[in-house]
Amino acid sequence: MRAAIFSGPGAVEAGDRPDPVIVESTDAVVRVVLGCVCGSDLWYYRGESPHAAGSIGHEFIGVVEQAGAEVRGIRVGDLVVAPFIYSDMSCPHCLNGSTISCPAGGNFGNGTIDGGQGEAVRVPLAGSTLVPVPGSGHPDAMLRSLLALSDVMSTGHHAAAVAGVKKGDTVAVVGDGAVGLCAVLAARRLGAERIIALSRHPGRQQVAREFGATDIVAARGDEAVQAVLELTGGIGADAALECVGTEQSAATAFAAARPGSTVGIVGVPHGQVPFAQTFFRNVGWRGGPAPARIYIPELLGDVLDGAINPGLVFDYETDLEHVADAYRAMDERRAIKSLVRVGTV
Ligand SMILES: [Zn+2]
Repeated sequence: MRAAIFSGPGAVEAGDRPDPVIVESTDAVVRVVLGCVCGSDLWYYRGESPHAAGSIGHEFIGVVEQAGAEVRGIRVGDLVVAPFIYSDMSCPHCLNGSTISCPAGGNFGNGTIDGGQGEAVRVPLAGSTLVPVPGSGHPDAMLRSLLALSDVMSTGHHAAAVAGVKKGDTVAVVGDGAVGLCAVLAARRLGAERIIALSRHPGRQQVAREFGATDIVAARGDEAVQAVLELTGGIGADAALECVGTEQSAATAFAAARPGSTVGIVGVPHGQVPFAQTFFRNVGWRGGPAPARIYIPELLGDVLDGAINPGLVFDYETDLEHVADAYRAMDERRAIKSLVRVGTV
């Protein structure tokens, strides 16, 4: 089959990988319909984090082509959403809501396990991992939003959920990448009344507004904090969502959060938490990799109802043979998020 192959920093190209087959009786083979490039794929692409040579890409939707004898809950022909990791959903960590820590689980597109940027994927623990999509004939815009549940929308939701966003809240979102934009949408979905998005890019500001941002702050650092304080009568936000992962963005989120609130962190940390400063303001933080498998069922309902449309974050599209362009467009910040169209439902 054809698939994106990572062979080193700056080098992701379409190439050949063996056709996936059922190895364990709990496996399924899924024919990929849509895949995409994640902000975290860019760390490997830029050489900022190591990645094994081989398969890459951990977000996809597709159609079940084969299912092993012990696979329950999904059937051949089902359209399915794959969370970005696979998990058994039965171990103490999965049952406690932390699927990322599942000892039986693992990552798609890690070099060895098939990636979502390919024609097909062998999915381990398929019955507990894949979420079937009810109905048929979903329009393309809905398929794009279903793809967003694989990681980016689940991650944005995680930021809002762990920060305790609730009805009537004022929320500050730090980061205008695809995750930050989805965090805006997630905050609106949870009932936030006022959502302050920090963004300096007109195209991203527009998506933020469509997703529910009521205020845009085009500043950074201390200036952005001052702007949030001014917008909140000097109090600060009821919740701040950190969707970048740099020391500066974390500092901005902590300073924009009101005393006694919680910062939701989903940007992979590159830097330190301002420990003493947060202590004396009783500001806490929660976060980490999203348990996407746990969030997908509830978010899926809202996508199918048309209540949320996270697929709007995909503003660049290509096919598998041009996957290198999908990476370049994001690396050069021409695209918020690149979609890779692989097949049809
Ligand atoms: Zn588990």
